[in-house]
Amino acid sequence: MVEPPLDGRDGRDLSLHHYNPQSQLKTTATQLSQAAFPVVDVHTHFFYRLRMNRQALKDYVAAMDRNGIAVCVSLDGKLGSQFQEQKDFLWKEHRDRFVFYANIDWRGDGATDDPASWACHRPGFAERTVQQLREAVKDGASGLKLFKRFGLSYRNPDGSLVEIDDPRWDPIWAACGELGIPIIIHTADPAAFFEPINERNERWEELSRHPDWSFHGEEFPTRDELFAARNRMVAKHPKTQFIGAHIANSPEDLEQVSQWMDRYPNLWVEPASRINELGRQPRAAREFLIRYQDRLLFGTDGPWPEQRLKYYWRFFETADESFPYSEKEPPPQGLWRIDGVDLPPQVLRKLYYENAVRLIPGIRERIEAFADSHPLK
Ligand SMILES: [Zn+2]
Repeated sequence: MVEPPLDGRDGRDLSLHHYNPQSQLKTTATQLSQAAFPVVDVHTHFFYRLRMNRQALKDYVAAMDRNGIAVCVSLDGKLGSQFQEQKDFLWKEHRDRFVFYANIDWRGDGATDDPASWACHRPGFAERTVQQLREAVKDGASGLKLFKRFGLSYRNPDGSLVEIDDPRWDPIWAACGELGIPIIIHTADPAAFFEPINERNERWEELSRHPDWSFHGEEFPTRDELFAARNRMVAKHPKTQFIGAHIANSPEDLEQVSQWMDRYPNLWVEPASRINELGRQPRAAREFLIRYQDRLLFGTDGPWPEQRLKYYWRFFETADESFPYSEKEPPPQGLWRIDGVDLPPQVLRKLYYENAVRLIPGIRERIEAFADSHPLK
């Protein structure tokens, strides 16, 4: 006989995968069709999410128009020939709506599973990368993105992990400062991903679907070690501007991020894929966002379905309570709902575009053109 599912019915127990409670709470639900001010989304992945699908790109530009997103910063620019491909994809028809960042080619033509063959371990790598970056900037690149694999999976020939603050890379970070481009860096991941996957883990539901997202165990550095290495890099290069992606990846501990923001005046943050965290502590989040309003940028990690974008507007612009942070069921990053932070208009403007205009090359002229052609409703 087949056992009935643990669906909580007829006296049976309920497994978490079947649990889908429908909230009975009746609260204000503000309908926002678009952002209150023009938006620069500084954290998007047009290569990884759309590949080279031109129709998908066109559709997303239409969604940007509807939502008031003036410019997206695609972080997947790579270097060399792939850089040109990305540039052609985004700029052929939509040059006024996109800028893009370069990425370091750590591996080069080396074999994935043989770190000793990687380009980054050959002499002169940093100098060659600086030269490539100079050319990329001349060619339109507006910044440099460092992915989370940097610190968590790239290895040295002896098998040890490549360290974020390894002095071999210093010339690259210094050059970004000289070139006037910011570095956006993804370091570590949610706190729960470094904890055992068990009944006490607040992201068990998600980790049970993606066990490979866990960094728990002795083969990985601790989250604090990764943050410390990132912070040493930021401290060592005060003339380079660093954007700590995902609220410097510690939105669960805003007191800690505040200390970093106070210590490193060249550190900026953006909230991509973290309104789930900010929105479950709306009072602390509001205070944080207001306090650091001059080094705050807007990001989503998109392109996403339009519904998700609307949750961002609702989170930042309203005092609505207990609403979803994602269109997905179950919610993908923790089984909870969020409250809005209702930011004042002057903070929203800085978050949405004014700070990006100051920090990222190529934004100012695009925002101006957008404002002329898309007057606020
Ligand atoms: Zn991302």
